[in-house]
Amino acid sequence: MHELSLAEGVVRIVLDSAKAESFTRVRRLRLSASKLSGVEIPALRFALEAIVPGTPLDGARIQIDEPPGCAWCFNCNANIEVASRLDACPRCGGHRYRASEEGLRVVELEVD
Ligand SMILES: [Zn+2]
Repeated sequence: MHELSLAEGVVRIVLDSAKAESFTRVRRLRLSASKLSGVEIPALRFALEAIVPGTPLDGARIQIDEPPGCAWCFNCNANIEVASRLDACPRCGGHRYRASEEGLRVVELEVD
C-alpha cells in the first residue's frame, strides 16, 4: 500500500501548514506525480478520499497532475523527458538514461 503512505504524507504536510498558517479548511489541493514516479493516481485518490474526513482536506477539490518524467541521457549528455521507464530517449533513441527519482509533490494549496 505505497499510495496509502503517500496519501498520509500529503495529509501530514497539509496539517503542518494548517498549524503554521492557521487555516482550517482547504479549498483546493494540487499535487504532482511525474509519470516516472510510479505513483498510481487512482489508488492515490482512493487513499486520500479514505483518510481526509476530519482533516482540513475534507471536501477539498484535489487535482493530481501527471507531468512527464525527467531523466538524464548518458548518450546525449542532456536532460530529457520520458513518459515511462520503457520509453527510448526522444533525442537519440537510446535507453541509457537515468530517471530522476522525483516522487509526489504538493504544488498548490488554496485555503479558506
Ligand atoms: Zn539520448
